[in-house]
Amino acid sequence: MLFDTHAHLNATQFNEDVEQVIERARAESVSHIVVVGFDRPTIQRAMELAEQYSFIYAAVGWHPVDAIHMTDEDLIMIERLAAHPKVVALGEMGLDYYWDQSPKDVQKEVFRKQIRLAKKVKLPIIIHNRDATADIVDILREERAEEVGGVMHCFSGSIEVARQCMDMNFYISFGGPVTFKNAKKPKEVAKEIPLDRLLIETDCPYLTPHPFRGKRNEPSYVKYIAEAIAELKGLSFGEVAQKTSDNAKRLFGII
Ligand SMILES: [Zn+2]
Ligand SMILES: [Zn+2]
Repeated sequence: MLFDTHAHLNATQFNEDVEQVIERARAESVSHIVVVGFDRPTIQRAMELAEQYSFIYAAVGWHPVDAIHMTDEDLIMIERLAAHPKVVALGEMGLDYYWDQSPKDVQKEVFRKQIRLAKKVKLPIIIHNRDATADIVDILREERAEEVGGVMHCFSGSIEVARQCMDMNFYISFGGPVTFKNAKKPKEVAKEIPLDRLLIETDCPYLTPHPFRGKRNEPSYVKYIAEAIAELKGLSFGEVAQKTSDNAKRLFGII
């Protein structure tokens, strides 16, 4: 039982073979996948996959890199889709100061609008953060995001930041980097996070874990994340798989 909490099976990299990719995930005991939308076409595709497969769920939101292109109509579309029974979260949303495609003030406004919407529709949020930790934490606090909570996806910050986020009702999710031999910090932080606040994800097709680093990522590889965390924490693979699945179900309201 493995729960991949963040997969982009809606990305064009899976256009040719998504069915086989999903079959491989099932063969590796992946019981649930959240496919995360980040713009118009990927939201559409996430909905299609969630309607097609019982074990696939959708998150709908707007990525900060493309914040400049989100319209009021897009926000209305996200609100409408939030009522769909297979939509379990809003996101991904957040701030990305690495790619310089949308001005910071636009990113912040689009982020705030989505947090407010999540509170209105009562869904948890999936946070994308790249080089923007202080502003993310400030906005989550100012907007009282703890009312809905959510997940810090592909977390790469310090244990102090992780604690601030956990205090605001957020889970901490780890992906491929926790398996990299030279990734000291994510390993140290993952070791410290209590098991009942941890989630695992692939963020496929990106961030492929060791030993497939450099190739296209896919949900069947989420077992490598669970293995790495089990090793770091001195727990069994089964316990990490079960606990992180239970956490994800609790967060996303899946019975
Ligand atoms: Zn992301
Ligand atoms: Zn993502």
